[in-house]
Amino acid sequence: MDWRSDYRMTIGGELVSAAETIEVINPATGAAFATAPRAAREDLDRAVAAAALAQKSWRRTPIAERRERLLLAGELLRGHVAEAGRLFTLEQGRPLPLAEYEIAGAAAWLEAVAARELPVEVTEDSDVRRIEVHHEPLGVVCAIVPWNFPVSLAMWKVAPALLAGNTMVLKPSPFTPLCMLKIAELLREVLPPGVLNVISGGDELGPWMTAHEGFAKISFTGSTATGKRVMEAAAKDLKRVTLELGGNDAAIVLADVDVEKVASRIFQGAFFNSAQLCVATKRLYVHEAVYDRLRDALVALAGSARVGDGLEPGVGFGPIQNRPQYERVLKLIDEARAAGLTLLQGPAPSGPGYFVPLTIVDDPPETARVVTEEAFGPILPMMRFKDLDEVIGRANDSEYGLAGAVWSSDVASAVEVAHQLETGTVWINENLHLPAHTPFGGHKQSGFGVENGLSGLLEFTRPKSIYISKPRPAPARSA
Ligand code: NAD
Repeated sequence: MDWRSDYRMTIGGELVSAAETIEVINPATGAAFATAPRAAREDLDRAVAAAALAQKSWRRTPIAERRERLLLAGELLRGHVAEAGRLFTLEQGRPLPLAEYEIAGAAAWLEAVAARELPVEVTEDSDVRRIEVHHEPLGVVCAIVPWNFPVSLAMWKVAPALLAGNTMVLKPSPFTPLCMLKIAELLREVLPPGVLNVISGGDELGPWMTAHEGFAKISFTGSTATGKRVMEAAAKDLKRVTLELGGNDAAIVLADVDVEKVASRIFQGAFFNSAQLCVATKRLYVHEAVYDRLRDALVALAGSARVGDGLEPGVGFGPIQNRPQYERVLKLIDEARAAGLTLLQGPAPSGPGYFVPLTIVDDPPETARVVTEEAFGPILPMMRFKDLDEVIGRANDSEYGLAGAVWSSDVASAVEVAHQLETGTVWINENLHLPAHTPFGGHKQSGFGVENGLSGLLEFTRPKSIYISKPRPAPARSA
């Protein structure tokens, strides 16, 4: 299999080209380096039909065999970390070792999810009846993923959906279609035809998919604005939905923190993947007692960070993944500068790639756009606070509720704060850690439903309660 060219869709186990193509741009150069198929409506119809046909037998395949196939898929993918990692860097921009880490992580994810059981709950087992609640697959799942973690976020859907007995049509982002096209091609070795179909296309493909009546469920990861459109489309025939959406995550740093110990972790929590991460720290609230020291430590880290082409050894932070996002981030920076805010920036190469310096905004007002909006780029506003209750209010004053972090040497106080944050995930003295065994989902407008953990697996099923009446003892005869 050639990972460097010939990108085709996988439909019903076959490799399929399209009459039209979309260009795929390397964000480190700004130049197109490959093309991907631009699916036509007929391609979507074929993919849905192939998935529906495959589902008939896949749902009846014993879970032990489905598990085995997922384990084989994980093993197969692990054997191709180098090829997939290089392709990942070319289309997504992330430095090569971290790109390879995502591919290896996706393989591990397939294996971790494969180990799960679908529980059967017995809600009554009396003299008169037994009631069992089973979890059966929904049918064909529509999976739509963004460009920031194009492989792992896809596997968060593929692994549980397939384990539960569903089949899938998955659409990567038009900005990063190549890795998932190639991974689907690879997994044909271990998955029956039609179980996993991957199709690529332009902006029209997502809405076609969410409107398609062949899907039982939509599992979507992307922005809140698009998530609302997805939910609207799903309402027409009551498709099930899981929505993993945007966030404007706050981290709160208490006065007792050991600055030297936490600075580099807070820095990574804000800037990993050039801050193109739903759960990145996007608002940093720091107690005034440690504000200056932490700011200086973060500025020093930004100053020594190497931003550049992810294929170059030693680069820690790649470009912004695509031009529209790059322009959005530059506009936010320009606006902040024009508003007189203090920007503390590290170095970055100039174009033609979409490079942005890691930027810290020194104590902007709460109303500044860099604070109120999800930047999804390397601009970290850090703000001073004095009063804990007041800062919890500021952290919660957001339409989003994805994740948050609390940093303190006093874990009990940090847990108290965690309970008051209106988010689906809170980390204490760590961040970004999202394992396969724990549910992840947003509160408020950050999401609907969860992924991962048992709850995430069950979102790919519907409960069925089976009542089994027991024979009643014959009435005793009178003498
Ligand atoms: P996006 O919403 O623009 O696109 C996401 C996907 O939806 C892409 O595949 C896109 O082609 C598709 N799409 C676009 N319009 C559509 C429509 N009308 N109907 C159906 N599909 C459509 O998001 P993005 O810019 O690719 O990703 C960045 C956003 O994703 C950020 O807001 C980020 O916070 C969020 N995100 C959330 C999570 C999470 O788990 N909560 C994870 C990663 C990213």
